[in-house]
Amino acid sequence: MSLSEFELIQHFFANSGAQRADVTLGVGDDCAILAMPTGKELVVSIDTLVESVHFFKDTDPERLGYKSLAVNLSDLAAMGARPAWATLALTLPSVDEDWLAAFCRGFSQLATAYGVQLIGGDTTKGPLNISIQVHGFVDIGTALRRDGAQLGDVIYVTGRLGDAGLALQNVGGMDTSAAAQSRLDRPIPRLAEGQALVGVANAAIDISDGLLSDLGHICQASGVGATLYMDNLPCSQAVHDHIKVNDDWSLPLSAGDDYELCVTIPPEKRAEAEQRAVNFECGLTQIGRIEAAPGIRCLRANGQQLQPPSSGYEHFSS
Ligand code: ADP
Ligand code: MG
Repeated sequence: MSLSEFELIQHFFANSGAQRADVTLGVGDDCAILAMPTGKELVVSIDTLVESVHFFKDTDPERLGYKSLAVNLSDLAAMGARPAWATLALTLPSVDEDWLAAFCRGFSQLATAYGVQLIGGDTTKGPLNISIQVHGFVDIGTALRRDGAQLGDVIYVTGRLGDAGLALQNVGGMDTSAAAQSRLDRPIPRLAEGQALVGVANAAIDISDGLLSDLGHICQASGVGATLYMDNLPCSQAVHDHIKVNDDWSLPLSAGDDYELCVTIPPEKRAEAEQRAVNFECGLTQIGRIEAAPGIRCLRANGQQLQPPSSGYEHFSS
């Protein structure tokens, strides 16, 4: 059976994800029509995944469908936003219905879990390319931004750092644990955590490119610096072992792909933040402090200062 373009869109993309009351008109017309809730600001982000740059050729399509939405939802999480809608621009080398069905399974599983409705998109032919835009809401003026960090803020991260990098290093190898592999393939967007930190965090970012790089963005935007307490970094046993054996901190500091949140919290709101974090299954760990001196210092518990490994991935650096 070969589907026409219209049938393909109807079959794979109409009714994907949650079915929301604020979608007046979803997939099928020239545009979607959406009802904005009063008292909210719209928070919007887009991310593109390109074959051979962000994922290997022949990556499992269900994994891709999941992850390409997950990395976008992670951006909403970092703003403290509640997700609502998504659009999907897909460029495909050919119409492979099995591939599309698996991709849509991964996508809609996550979309449904977080109340996101697919409201439109575009389908074109060419080298595989997945572009997703997400839309969410925050109460006016409450979004968590990169430029809000203040001197004396305590730096926290959700979850654990370095597992995704470990899985990536071991691609094709035998020693990647299922847990680390799942952190790479199926990151959990920290949406509830981001929303819970609204009102207590001064700044937030999600860790896509590595802690040094992403905390660096907070520091730059806020005009501050930071010290990281290396021995406080939350890592799995496998990552701890890697650090110890290789004397290499790059997994938690610069490997990226963890999609945890890094937030800065003023001292007077720490108790409140830690109280709210009691409900975080992934945990919330204090890892450093915001300081006046620019740059990021990596301090061991014994007082030794580490030379940080080179920071995160940049597309246009040589
Ligand atoms: P137009 O030519 O008017 O842009 P399209 O044929 O591109 O219309 O799309 C028809 C409808 O299908 C639109 O509502 C569009 O949003 C939706 N659509 C197309 N591709 C996708 C996709 N990959 N995911 C979700 N919706 C899609
Ligand atoms: Mg179109």
